[in-house]
Amino acid sequence: MLSEENYFSKDNNFKYCGSSQIKSFMQCESKALAELKGEWIEEPSKALLEGSYLDAALSGTLNEFKENHPELFKKDGTLKAEFLQAEVALERIKKDEMFMKYVNGDNQKIMTGQIAGIPIKIKIDSYHKDKALVDFKYIADFKYQYNPITNQRENFVTRWGYDFQATIYQKIVEQNTGKRLPFFIAAVTKEKQPDLALLSIPDEVIDIKLSELEQILPHIQQLKEGKVEPTRCEHCDYCKATKKLTKIIDYRDLDLV
Ligand SMILES: [Zn+2]
Repeated sequence: MLSEENYFSKDNNFKYCGSSQIKSFMQCESKALAELKGEWIEEPSKALLEGSYLDAALSGTLNEFKENHPELFKKDGTLKAEFLQAEVALERIKKDEMFMKYVNGDNQKIMTGQIAGIPIKIKIDSYHKDKALVDFKYIADFKYQYNPITNQRENFVTRWGYDFQATIYQKIVEQNTGKRLPFFIAAVTKEKQPDLALLSIPDEVIDIKLSELEQILPHIQQLKEGKVEPTRCEHCDYCKATKKLTKIIDYRDLDLV
């Protein structure tokens, strides 16, 4: 059984594909595999910890979270600037009745299922039984995000693969409950004056993303089972750290992604 404690354990990460794991494989297969095997530890980003701080606040477990994360505090025992800013965002959303209604479902609800025959695990920030799935996001701002791979400016939802996350969550919940529930993003920004929004991801987008996932997942499973060799992206920190020079390249051929 998956629980809050073992959700991200090495065994369960091998047994199940989760949303962030799938996104990691889509970014760089070699890095994702090295991470799973424990050969590469991605430095936990400050951004991730800020998001977790707010997740804990919304789930009513902030005191416990503070006890387990001394890195939140300065030497004098006060919160570091980024977590004081998280408090500002928290105060802002608490003033919004609609926002709070959406994030106050059953918090961190875990479910498992399958997509394309591959075992999947999900952890829903706020689950409203028979009604809705809500994921909470704490992001820099609502501005365009540049994607070097597509060379386009994108909406943050597409840029960070939240459309894939919506698809995975909706599908697994449907398998568990027999109901296709709408997926919403409850987002607040890190700006000095935080902005906030409740966003839907329409079923027509989810249908397209589902067929993309069904194509990608069997390959990810083969990578995890060691049946195919991973490809390197040559741009992430893992690839930079493990790069081995074997030849001189013409400067005009340098990949400038
Ligand atoms: Zn890479």
